[in-house]
Amino acid sequence: MLTPPDASAPVIEKNGIIYRPDMILSDRLNEVKTTRKSAKYHYLDDALPVTWVDYMLGGCYMMDRTEYDLIILYISGNFAPPFPQIYAETEQFSQEEIRENWTKILHRKAILDEALILNIPPEPFQNCYDWECKYCRYQLVCQTLTRDLNVKMTVEQAEEDKELWS
Ligand code: SF4
Repeated sequence: MLTPPDASAPVIEKNGIIYRPDMILSDRLNEVKTTRKSAKYHYLDDALPVTWVDYMLGGCYMMDRTEYDLIILYISGNFAPPFPQIYAETEQFSQEEIRENWTKILHRKAILDEALILNIPPEPFQNCYDWECKYCRYQLVCQTLTRDLNVKMTVEQAEEDKELWS
């Protein structure tokens, strides 16, 4: 519905990483996101989910760009009418941010490749964000493996572990 007829969305592959922008329009990268979060936080510095930023940084590396147009549809507005609300802005990234993110992506890919070859899961809690573990259905398995491997947990994970086992 939001996609103009002259937009394209090619599948790109680089170093074994596959990426597809929501659309390329007038030779610019575009991402369209929806969220149930309130729009009132939009202009706070860390309001964008880190996964969106990682994705755009990765896309910039693959497409040799430093800018990404981001359209956000706040489904519930700012939790008061009018809703939905739509925000559109251009994210600008430095070459250093783009390079660092790509290094992180390649590092995680190498860990995944190795895990697939060896058929052994990667070390728990070491290659993901804390919030991913918090809502993960495998958390108990990872807590158990961590105890077995004596892997260092974050303070938050150690507290959850204590609650689970006390
Ligand atoms: S709890 Fe889930 S997200 Fe966290 S390391 Fe284990 S499998 Fe990965």
